[in-house]
Amino acid sequence: MALLDPLLALQDLDLQTDRLRAQREGLPEREALKACAAEIVANDRLQASTREKRDGFARKEREVAGEVSGVAASAQDVEARLYSGEVTAAKELESLQMELRLTRSKQENFEERELEIMEEIEAQDGELERLAALHAGAEKRGEDLRAAIRAGEQRIDAALKALSDQRAEPISSLAETLVETYEALREKPKLAGKAAVSLRDGLCQGCRVSLPRVDLSRMLAEPENALIQCSHCTRLLVR
Ligand SMILES: [Zn+2]
Repeated sequence: MALLDPLLALQDLDLQTDRLRAQREGLPEREALKACAAEIVANDRLQASTREKRDGFARKEREVAGEVSGVAASAQDVEARLYSGEVTAAKELESLQMELRLTRSKQENFEERELEIMEEIEAQDGELERLAALHAGAEKRGEDLRAAIRAGEQRIDAALKALSDQRAEPISSLAETLVETYEALREKPKLAGKAAVSLRDGLCQGCRVSLPRVDLSRMLAEPENALIQCSHCTRLLVR
C-alpha cells in the first residue's frame, strides 16, 4: 500500500459526497413541484378572471331583472285600466290593448335576456367548480411532492453523514498540510472536486497528461509521502 493511499480513499469519499449533493439538489420532484406551483398560480389567475366575469353577469342580471319588474308593473297598470270599466271608448280601448301587447312583448324580451344571462352565470359557476377541482388536485400533488422531497433529502443526508464520518480515518493518517492543500485544490472549479489522483506510468490520472521526464524523475526521487503536484493540472499525485 502506498503511503498516500489514504489520500485516494479520502478523495473517493469526497467524490461520493459531491455526487450525493448534486443528487440532493437535483431531486426530480423539485422540478415537478415548481411546475405544480406555476400551475396553481395560473389557476388562481384564471379563477379570479372567471369570478370577475361571473360577477359582471350577475350585475347585468340584476339590472335586467329590474327592467322586467318595471315593465311587468306597467303592463299591470295598463291591464288594470283596460279592465277597470272606466275606459269605454272603443278607440281608447283599442289603443290600451295595443299598449298592453307592446308592454308584454317588451317584458318577454327582457325575460329572455335575463334567462340568457342566467345561463352565462351558470356556465361561469361550472367553470369555477372545474377550476377549483384542478386547484385542489394541484395542491394535493404539491403536498405529495414536498413529502417525497423531504424523504429524499433525509435519505441523502443520512448517507452524507455516513460519508463525513468515514473521512476521519484516512485524514488521521495524512499530514495536516497535505490535507489542507487537498481541501484547497478541491475548491478549484476547474478540478471538479478531483484534487488527488494516482500517477501511473508517468501519466497523471486526473488530466491524462504525461509528465515531462524531468519532472517525473524529480518527483520519483522525492520521499514517498512527499507532496507532489501534476505540473499540468496541479492535482496531488499519489505514486
Ligand atoms: Zn494532471
